[in-house]
Amino acid sequence: MAKKLKLSNERPGLIDFFFPARCIICREVQNPGVFICPQCARELSVTGSQVSQHGDFFDICYSPFFYEEPLRESFLRYKFRNRPQFSRQFGKWMADCLMAQDKTDFDLITWCPLHWLRKLDRGYDQSYLLAREIGQYITAPVVPTLKKAIARLCLPWKAPRPSGQPICWGPIPSPGTLPASASCWWTTSSPPAPP
Ligand SMILES: [Zn+2]
Repeated sequence: MAKKLKLSNERPGLIDFFFPARCIICREVQNPGVFICPQCARELSVTGSQVSQHGDFFDICYSPFFYEEPLRESFLRYKFRNRPQFSRQFGKWMADCLMAQDKTDFDLITWCPLHWLRKLDRGYDQSYLLAREIGQYITAPVVPTLKKAIARLCLPWKAPRPSGQPICWGPIPSPGTLPASASCWWTTSSPPAPP
């Protein structure tokens, strides 16, 4: 397996010199710590009044943007093209979205993890990086609570997701780590499709 280049989020200086920050959309060079240019920021498809959705297995989901271009392509590069540094901007957007809704009172922040085989191949867990980033803006501990039950990496290409089986299950913390009734913020892998 080829060793992948990893850019650390915590080592500015020399890294910034050789690998300057670039806009996560158009890839133009930006000042250190800036991950999107003003023009691309203006063109993002914000969810606005559709910021929240309800579903079968969660109480509510907040999404700052619709899952459409050019953000979709940027997010796919984050997941599949070795761009862990994108988590800084994506995580900030997610935290900003929660704070704009005045939703910051959580017992903990957790994430839907990658299977260890997938993480070994990718080199990082993109959902964990988002959770860690959100944890820097919202005062709540970032705690692992779920374990991946199925590695789709092992399934045939384009195999359907197995029905009736949980993709994630938990909890994995030791007894007493979690409150009996905890309010959690789960980071997910993809924003919703546009209406
Ligand atoms: Zn740009």
